[in-house]
Amino acid sequence: MTKISFREKLIEVRKSKGLTQTEVADLCSISLRTVQRIEAGKVTPRAYTIKQISEALGFDFFNVYDNPDTYTDKNDIKTNNIQAPIEFVKDLFNLKTNTMKKVSIISSFCLLIIFSIFSFTFKLNAQTQKKAIKETTPKNELIEPVKITFTNQLTFDELTTIKIDLENQGITIQYKKLEFDENNKLKTIACFIDCNDGFKGSFVANHIELATKKIGFSRDYDLNSSSPFETGVLKKTIILDVGHGGLDSGSFSKDFQEKEITLAIANKIKELSKDNEEFDVFLTRDSDQFISLKKRTQIINASKPDYIISLHTADSQTNKKHGVNLYTNDQNRYINESSTLTKAFSKSIGKDLKVNMIKNMNSHFLKNVKCPATLIELGYLSNPSDKENLTTKKGQHRIATIIFNALQEVI
Ligand SMILES: [Zn+2]
Repeated sequence: MTKISFREKLIEVRKSKGLTQTEVADLCSISLRTVQRIEAGKVTPRAYTIKQISEALGFDFFNVYDNPDTYTDKNDIKTNNIQAPIEFVKDLFNLKTNTMKKVSIISSFCLLIIFSIFSFTFKLNAQTQKKAIKETTPKNELIEPVKITFTNQLTFDELTTIKIDLENQGITIQYKKLEFDENNKLKTIACFIDCNDGFKGSFVANHIELATKKIGFSRDYDLNSSSPFETGVLKKTIILDVGHGGLDSGSFSKDFQEKEITLAIANKIKELSKDNEEFDVFLTRDSDQFISLKKRTQIINASKPDYIISLHTADSQTNKKHGVNLYTNDQNRYINESSTLTKAFSKSIGKDLKVNMIKNMNSHFLKNVKCPATLIELGYLSNPSDKENLTTKKGQHRIATIIFNALQEVI
């Protein structure tokens, strides 16, 4: 292997072509000073410059480049191809020439690296967080569901109590902003909630008194829950109290019992409600079982629903009475809300079915449930037309659809 000096070869080629240094500079589009410095052996030309000179002078200087990495041995051409990019990078950091251009290239390169690192870290964080949530999601039933709704009835003291109660359950709530009206009732709320198990979120609600939606947060890790953690606008909870069951058949005609009719219609309403965004529907029973009125009341109050509809059928000595009956209880503390909902419900159902006057019913159940409630008798088993509706699949589907549509309108 014989090393040949690039500068010597350049001088040789230039002179053989009868060119001056200025003419070479012009031909190669480089500065005269660069040509002078190369020929004086003061600088080592970079790969790009050698390429320019080679093209301009019609001679392949790469083969004679006197850089220690460049040999005349043709077997080393491959090495040279690999070395050229390395030389280019090395040259980038030689700030003696084209400084601004190099600074731009180096800066862009650095920015690219920083951006890549950020993207990777962000992705990693997101994955870690997802994994953490997955791993920390409690699967046992010992963790109580929590549902907090912020209404315009809350005072500062009550909000403080909510905060303390939640802390006792391991949940941190930070009120970022609280505003109260002239009666010291909550008007605006902005808060951050952290269940300290991976689930956290925040929401802002202005003009709570005008909100028709339910605002707050809920945590329900039950495996059947559609959303384990929600903040902001929450889905409402409706309980369908399925009348009678087990030993208690309710009213009955020759072939049909009230307890079967209420269960069939409740199941259809639940099925129709499956995909709606506004509310979740729960049943007090989904099989032929007896649950005492006292027990029903306890189950319902523990669930803190937004509305309860108790499903029944009516019966009469005469076959002339027909239509839907609706009842509320004027002793219940939610009687105002119950009345409003029941009237709206009556109006909606009335578009498709005959609805009789809303009445007061003095029942343990309607009196003691802690939320708005309506008891509905869906028709008279003693009336042939109502009976047809209540006992056939087609009729039951019709009634269920009417009730579901009314719920959507009312809730
Ligand atoms: Zn009944």
